[in-house]
Amino acid sequence: MTGPVLDFRPENATPFLQEVMERSGQMLTACYQCRRCAAGCTVGDETGFFTPNILIRHVILGDRETALSNPLVWKCVSCYTCGTRCPNDIQTARITETLKKMAKEAHIPPLQPKVAAFHDSFLESGLRWGRVNEMEFMGIYEIKNALREVRVKNYAAIVDELKGQARLGMAMFKLKRLHAGFMMAKGRKEIKALYRKAKKRPPASPGINP
Ligand code: SF4
Ligand code: SF4
Repeated sequence: MTGPVLDFRPENATPFLQEVMERSGQMLTACYQCRRCAAGCTVGDETGFFTPNILIRHVILGDRETALSNPLVWKCVSCYTCGTRCPNDIQTARITETLKKMAKEAHIPPLQPKVAAFHDSFLESGLRWGRVNEMEFMGIYEIKNALREVRVKNYAAIVDELKGQARLGMAMFKLKRLHAGFMMAKGRKEIKALYRKAKKRPPASPGINP
C-alpha cells in the first residue's frame, strides 16, 4: 500500500524547517532515521506508525499540514525517552511542543481538543496563583470542554464527562489526592514576569537544548 505523494518544494520546505529548528532548538537535519526514538516512544501504541522519526521527516520535507496536525504532536507526554536514546541528541518533546504552539498560532483546530483544553487550563490557573489550584484548574478545564460540546449540541458527552470526573474526584478525595483549599505561591508575580519574559525570548539556536 502506498501513501499520498508529497509535492516537495525546497522553497517552501526550508523556511518551515528553519523555523521549527530555531524555535525548538533542535537540529532536525542531524536525524538519520535510525528509529531508536521510535522503538522507545512511550505513546507508540496510541500514535501507531506516526513515530518521532516520521514527524521529523515531515518537517524536513516541508509538509507543514501534517507536521502541525498529527497524533504524536497531541499525544506526546514529553517523557524525553526518545531524546535520551537519540545518538544525535534530538529532543522530540521540544519539537512537539513547538509544533503545538505553531498550530495554535495558525488557528488550526487541535486534533485532541481535550489535551489543548488541559494545557490552557493548567497555564491559566498556574499563572493566576503561582501554582496550579486543582479545583479551579479542573473547573476551567470542564467549562472549556462543556462549551465545545454545547457548540455541537452533544449534551450527552457533557453528562458523561461530568459523571466520570465526579467519580474520579471522589476517589481522589478519599485518597487525599485532591485538595479543596485555595493555595497560592508567594512569588506568583515573579512567575508571571518570568512567563512574559520567556514569551519574548528569541528562538534558541538549533543544536543547543535550552
Ligand atoms: S533516534 Fe534520533 S537520529 Fe535516530 S531516527 Fe530518532 S531522531 Fe533521528
Ligand atoms: S518525549 Fe514524546 S515523542 Fe519522545 S518518547 Fe516521550 S512521548 Fe514519545
